[in-house]
Amino acid sequence: MTAPTTIVSAPYVARVPPRWRNEVEGVLIAEDQIARRIRVMAGDIARDYANRELIVVSLLNGTVMFLADLIRNLSLPLRLDFIGVSSYGAGTESGELVFTKELRLGVRGRDVLLVDDILDTGKTLFRVLGKLRALRPRRIKTCVLLNKAARRVEAVEADYVGFEIPDVFVVGYGLDFAERYRNLPFVGVLHPHVYKRARQRRCPDRPRSACGQRQG
Ligand code: 5GP
Ligand code: MG
Repeated sequence: MTAPTTIVSAPYVARVPPRWRNEVEGVLIAEDQIARRIRVMAGDIARDYANRELIVVSLLNGTVMFLADLIRNLSLPLRLDFIGVSSYGAGTESGELVFTKELRLGVRGRDVLLVDDILDTGKTLFRVLGKLRALRPRRIKTCVLLNKAARRVEAVEADYVGFEIPDVFVVGYGLDFAERYRNLPFVGVLHPHVYKRARQRRCPDRPRSACGQRQG
């Protein structure tokens, strides 16, 4: 694969549109930067899977925008399916994983490309990869838009990575906080005051690890 683009925090690449300025502190990755990188990633994938039919398995809900842009740039025969995961834990922390939608397509003996929005602690991909491997595909490769290597807990790396990002909580381009901000066309850094306030409102007396549910 081509090397991921490494993003350092500040200074941010662009100003946040006025509508979002109170909640989003900066644009970490701009729309055109994402589009360019995805075209290169799609080229890498198309080369690696030439002459093979791919099953793309995408994790809901965070991959919506990335997936749409990735596959429209992929000139390969492919089939598409989804796995739903959500994790019980505080708003910005990974917690216990629950599957909310199971795979429908058979993947036995097939080439699978597993797509997620962001690889953080690695717990999600680790669990999902275990589940997929049990279905005996021919080969599984993983593709993520963002990688936060600093937070890894499980020994899992992705085969295709869009951007290496620092340890900041990001939203936009499919990524949410409490189901909001998925519609931002760029990847932005959420103002910490947003999640601190939300955590206090939801469960003021409980520890972070016992607070709320988040959809992948
Ligand atoms: P992991 O299991 O690798 O810790 O985290 C994977 C999932 O946690 C991602 O699919 C994503 O849903 C969520 N996640 C991790 N880091 C971030 C982040 O910075 N922003 C958002 N919005 N979600 C994140
Ligand atoms: Mg996710």
